[in-house]
Amino acid sequence: MRPFVVAANWKMHKSPREAVDFLKGFLPKVSDRPKNREIIFFVPAVDLWVTQEVLRNSGVGWGAQNCHFEMKGAFTGETSPQVLAEMATPFCLVGHSERRALFHETDEETGKKVKALHQSRITPMLCVGETLSERESGKTNDVIVRQLKAGLRDRDPSQKVMIAYEPVWAIGTGKVATPEQANEAHVTLRKALIDIGGPEFATHTPILYGGSVKPENSAEIARQKEVDGFLVGGASLEIASFLPLCQTRKET
Ligand code: PEP
Repeated sequence: MRPFVVAANWKMHKSPREAVDFLKGFLPKVSDRPKNREIIFFVPAVDLWVTQEVLRNSGVGWGAQNCHFEMKGAFTGETSPQVLAEMATPFCLVGHSERRALFHETDEETGKKVKALHQSRITPMLCVGETLSERESGKTNDVIVRQLKAGLRDRDPSQKVMIAYEPVWAIGTGKVATPEQANEAHVTLRKALIDIGGPEFATHTPILYGGSVKPENSAEIARQKEVDGFLVGGASLEIASFLPLCQTRKET
């Protein structure tokens, strides 16, 4: 059975001190979370060290929001997957739409990052999603399958990946995909995962939905058969809004 994964993407928010305060306040409140529930915090790179100090052995995971695809070299300002591994980082986002749009990250680079993360024994969470104009011109499935295939091209089949479907038009906009739109995209991605790695791989790979998930809409989205969790930006910044998402029941 796939876990139901609730992941926070803090983006460029929270100092190390704020991260520690948040996590120390949060942990006691999720000790009675639903079974088979995985919680992950994708924190700014500068918060990773204190985050692992607080979350180590807590049952709650953490990860980086980005990395380079080389292990070392003249890449000023970048983060090495090897160093993430040395810091005991279990997860890393790859190909978030803000990386693709603002930092010009290409499909090819996402594939290299997934490969480098697997070489470093870190589980990538690959983000895919269409823009509004791509959706309106009927290209959603082509775009997300292209991004998925490119991202997973050089993965290590013996290691795990997670996928986040994040329609770009729903991120940080307050517009949320309808549960049916989300499920349809997830069905497309699940089928593509079968093509990529076979039925066993597809069955075990969680596909999260991201895009303006909030306590008010989470239950309806979680009810969709192919939705295995949430990737949450804005609503993950406060315990009051993130906690109910972590407690959302998966009812099918
Ligand atoms: C995100 O950045 O991954 C995201 C889903 O943001 P928000 O929840 O704010 O739309």
